[in-house]
Amino acid sequence: MSEELILNEINNNTEEYIEFLRELIQTESYNPPGNEKNVALKIQEYLKRAGLNCEIFPFGNNRANLIAHLNEDFEKKNLLYNAHMDVVPPGNEEEWKYPPLSAFIKRKKLLYGRGAADMKSALAAIIISLKILHKLDLKLEGNLLVNAVADEETGGNLGTKWCLENILKPRSIKCDFIVICEPSMLKPLPKAIIFGEKGHMIIKVITNGKSAHSMTPSMGKNAIYMMSKIIENLDKLKKYIPKIEPPFTLEELKILLSKAFPNREILDRILNEQPLLRDVMVSLTEFTNSLNVIKGGIKENVIPDHCEALIDFRLLPGQNSEMILNGLKKLINDIGFEVKDKPLEKPAEEIFVYLEIYNEGASSLWKEYNKSQTVKNLEKIVENVYGREPFYWISMGATDAHFYRNSKYCETTIHFGPGSATQMHAIDEHIEIQDFINAIKVYTLFAYNYLKK
Ligand SMILES: [Zn+2]
Repeated sequence: MSEELILNEINNNTEEYIEFLRELIQTESYNPPGNEKNVALKIQEYLKRAGLNCEIFPFGNNRANLIAHLNEDFEKKNLLYNAHMDVVPPGNEEEWKYPPLSAFIKRKKLLYGRGAADMKSALAAIIISLKILHKLDLKLEGNLLVNAVADEETGGNLGTKWCLENILKPRSIKCDFIVICEPSMLKPLPKAIIFGEKGHMIIKVITNGKSAHSMTPSMGKNAIYMMSKIIENLDKLKKYIPKIEPPFTLEELKILLSKAFPNREILDRILNEQPLLRDVMVSLTEFTNSLNVIKGGIKENVIPDHCEALIDFRLLPGQNSEMILNGLKKLINDIGFEVKDKPLEKPAEEIFVYLEIYNEGASSLWKEYNKSQTVKNLEKIVENVYGREPFYWISMGATDAHFYRNSKYCETTIHFGPGSATQMHAIDEHIEIQDFINAIKVYTLFAYNYLKK
């Protein structure tokens, strides 16, 4: 009965929900610099009209995190929905057919704009689900918390991590289940429920050589040659880090993915025809590295004393940044270079290498997801709403989920949300409006199901 009430409420108010989503997309929150407070204020206004309060935690220059909840009781079950308010900048706006802040609706089906997929649709959907549960005043036992965070696109330390350390933990709020509401579809596959993710770590490697005139190369130490020696040996890094079995073999991944296809033969055929999908699967079983930026040299006849490179390492669940950093240091030592801490000022004529962490997002995994009845309930709700059975998957890239899982605050964290991963950070980013409406249904029904007496 209550489910019907919820679905009727949503079906009768879709226009209003779409308007709220458009308003969020039209509110600029490009990160960098952030400006998430603009979005937080819109959410506050919307919740206020619905009779709900929220707390805004401002910081920096026009930035903020926000938290809202259904009631004041945190002693029973707590379910938390997490979505970020920041979006990546649009790049060259002239390349956009529909301007990034337009929230343009095409043929009543698609909604365009920066954040349409990543992830203002999810953000709007979870705020709306809170509003619906409040309005319908159903008999619930427990609390739904909505955490709208800043800083996700630049690492999450000032967003999800800050909220965890400064709001949830100090107030002794324990969460029993968390949903990271990032897009979890890879079109044309059905929705995925994601229970783990690879991590990334970008390391800047700097070689410090010795400058000289190139008439007398032996008087110098060429920093580019030093770097080239490191690059040549980079593939040996695997031997220098603890051996970690991938959480899933290729065969196990195929079994997970086969749920998205009518049968295994069709999946095998598609994997043969679509190298991209096969590559995605292989990369989910491997630790990889890729050197993507390199800078060095100042003049055609001067031996360079400085060269720097950015290397993107992709970590399997179980691998952490310390392992990679230590392994890389040992490898560089074995090649014959000394690795030192970052010098405070430019050192004169000293030959060594130093490393800096440029950017990182930890890997994480909820191993026991398949034993959880809560997850099975979510699966059923997703199937009913979307009309297609979802499949379970691990993600290629890190979300804020690792802050909850790795700190053991709430290992039972999954990632599910509207939008296709192919739209994330894309030009002319868009969402199917039906996907957005379906997400409102899933989040509201799931919260009701989870918290009902
Ligand atoms: Zn995102």
